[in-house]
Amino acid sequence: MSFVSEGSSISRDTGRILSPITEHTRPPQDEEPAQKGKNHMYYCKYCPAWSAQNTSNFRQHIQSKHGIAIISQSRKVDDSSNTTLQSLYEKAMVINQTSELDAQILKRALNKEVITQAIVSLIVIKNLSFQIIKSPYFHALCKALNPTASNKILSSHSTIKEHVRKSWLFHKDLI
Ligand SMILES: [Zn+2]
Repeated sequence: MSFVSEGSSISRDTGRILSPITEHTRPPQDEEPAQKGKNHMYYCKYCPAWSAQNTSNFRQHIQSKHGIAIISQSRKVDDSSNTTLQSLYEKAMVINQTSELDAQILKRALNKEVITQAIVSLIVIKNLSFQIIKSPYFHALCKALNPTASNKILSSHSTIKEHVRKSWLFHKDLI
């Protein structure tokens, strides 16, 4: 993880570190040319005397010798929309700040109406007491599925009670 820095991300597919080429180059030293003919020289930051005259050779070296996949500029642009959230998330994960983000995402996954309907159906069809939604065991189950679910269910307790009453009147002939 020591190569991960600003601009790096971790590949979703391979788990490898992806980073821009400039993360791994060093400026030329002493007699070393910055350019050979028309070609820009890329010096490996990790090897004492390794250089390439084009980015694809440099990328290949960094990948095979140092196990780091370098994002090419064109791919970076293509993927940027897909990787933005991913890399933000991974950066946050590195510094242990994902819990707030996780909570936001988990909360957004909850649809109160759908949850209420599912609980009402369970209670009515299985002839359970609506008190089940106050049960710590029921809450443990909900939390296991989505840690932010519990609050949403508690807050809809009175709603569910009302729904169950109505639904029971509607369903009782069918059961
Ligand atoms: Zn090297």
